[in-house]
Amino acid sequence: MLDMFHFDFYSPVEVLNYQPFQEQQCMVHVKRDDLIHPFISGNKWRKLKYTLQDAAKMGKSHLVTFGGAWSNHLLATAAAGAKFGFTTTGYVRGESVVNPNLQLCQLFGMQLVFVNRTTYKDKFALYRQYHEEDATTYFIDEGGKASTALEGCAEIIASLDEDYDHLLCACGTGTTLAGLRWGVTKYEKSITLHGVPVLKEGEFIQDTVRQWNPINGEIVLHTNYHFGGYAKTKPELLTFISHFVANTGMLIEPVYTGKLFYALADLIRKDYFAKGSKILVLHTGGLTGVLGTLAKFEANVLQK
Ligand SMILES: *Cc1c(COP(=O)(O)O)cnc(C)c1O
Repeated sequence: MLDMFHFDFYSPVEVLNYQPFQEQQCMVHVKRDDLIHPFISGNKWRKLKYTLQDAAKMGKSHLVTFGGAWSNHLLATAAAGAKFGFTTTGYVRGESVVNPNLQLCQLFGMQLVFVNRTTYKDKFALYRQYHEEDATTYFIDEGGKASTALEGCAEIIASLDEDYDHLLCACGTGTTLAGLRWGVTKYEKSITLHGVPVLKEGEFIQDTVRQWNPINGEIVLHTNYHFGGYAKTKPELLTFISHFVANTGMLIEPVYTGKLFYALADLIRKDYFAKGSKILVLHTGGLTGVLGTLAKFEANVLQK
């Protein structure tokens, strides 16, 4: 059972050569979870791994899940479902649209159902109404949020060969950070965890982390880097991302990892970290999201 959802993937830790960081004498490394898989990428695979195992153990063959039209989780579930022999249904928030993310979901065989925002709010009611009577279905919450997701994220900590002073990651629901916190306790590391919420009023992430880690729930949140809210951008964020990508060769995007690296750059500039600190940044993947934002780059920063 354990090996059923195992595949060999590549997620090295790389030194990041980015001059503004080097000038501040900060050693920044990146854990490249974006390289795990083109579509089952980053933390979405970490979160799905034990959830799929749980589904299989229960004899389920049909995954039902939820997300926005650009959801990395929907695409990861579609691709992982196809790879590991599940059928998949994805409830998409809002009116019917066509975009490359959803088209890829369909290509991986996912059945899409568009629901208005009010109906979407009660995901479990939707599940009960349309799927509960079918014993083959398995509910996966938006973003892959689940207790089974924590163990997969904790494995990121287990996989590190070296010690670091700080680990930073982007936060949506906070599940990944909660799993990292659990891993730091479980594997007895002394690394300080930092979360950068990509949505407004991200203070709730502290509660999410504590809920799963009632004993050791210490994390540091940097809540001022949301740029107006989820999927919102500003020209200064787009300018930063285009400079960063062009000077490191590592792709980041405006919804998650762009805000994360912007926060890191700002904190480093403000001497937040002690000189010589060893900093590790988790690249959580989700790079298909960049396709939805190219028009914004075009309008703001790309040379004509
Ligand atoms: C979904 C996602 C996140 C947020 O993960 P949470 O566990 O919900 O906090 C971060 N980065 C990327 C690239 C994502 O796709």
